[in-house]
Amino acid sequence: QPIHAPDNLKPLLQDILQQAQSVHDGKVADYIPALAQVKPDYCALTVATLDGRVTSVGDTDTPFSIQSISKIFGLMLAMERVGESLWERVQMEPSGQPFNSIVQLEWERGIPRNPMINAGAILVSDVLVSHYSASKSAVLSMVRGLCNSGNVCVDSQVHDSEREHGARNAALAYLMKSFGNIEADVEEVLDHYFWQCALTMTTEELARSLAFLANRGKCPHSGQQITSHRDAQRINALLSTSGMYDQSGQFAFTVGLPAKSGVGGGIVAIVPDYGVIAAWSPPLNSFGNSAKGMAMIRNLANQLGLSVY
Ligand code: GLN
Repeated sequence: QPIHAPDNLKPLLQDILQQAQSVHDGKVADYIPALAQVKPDYCALTVATLDGRVTSVGDTDTPFSIQSISKIFGLMLAMERVGESLWERVQMEPSGQPFNSIVQLEWERGIPRNPMINAGAILVSDVLVSHYSASKSAVLSMVRGLCNSGNVCVDSQVHDSEREHGARNAALAYLMKSFGNIEADVEEVLDHYFWQCALTMTTEELARSLAFLANRGKCPHSGQQITSHRDAQRINALLSTSGMYDQSGQFAFTVGLPAKSGVGGGIVAIVPDYGVIAAWSPPLNSFGNSAKGMAMIRNLANQLGLSVY
């Protein structure tokens, strides 16, 4: 199915950003106090296409906390490091539950439903802490390389804030430990998880960093094969079924793209063989997904005919 995109995307993106200003629902995440400080009216939209063009409108130079979008980066490294055996410790099924839910974890004997919810990403963090002598720098240098920007860093205030208010995530980690599904020291695993959630990036950096997922695993700029084609397909499949938590079904229905959100208000959506959309607006809907971000991506996908289905 052809994509009906104009050569110059800027006027369309401006329009969409403007229209999103009429979306007033949503509330900035406050369960991590440092995130509650972020101005709610930031709004940004970027499209990076595989031909190397990056079109941006709004606050695209302002770095923000990528939060759960980091689950993609952690997963990439873990897939590369441990291969098939990863899938004995984490499933690939949608959870149908909020991102930080604990209920299924006991029924399913400490095996998280998928790597895109908190329990799954904490499990992935265990793999990284156990297999890398410096798991944080492994993630940071990979992300900097992917977007070709040394500006990506970690907001230590968000990192500390999350550690101080991380009782729910600690409960997930200790429950998995009790079932023998966490190998390393739980506090070290949690520290890695909170740290990677506190990575800060702009929408442009995010869009560029994930272009390989739209390009069969190959970075369109450097030509480097970042993951195998099959691993890129697998990550996109997980994003399609689980990337928007318990709103993933609705997102597939109304937008039809693999996507990942974070409670910092960012959303990335992968358009296979075309490019990446990255949106940011801090107020979240009741599922923890950016309200304006969803509206902008839906609008763009519908206007350009981007659904993969
Ligand atoms: N750091 C957040 C948490 O663990 C990530 C959740 C998210 O972005 N959905 O609660």
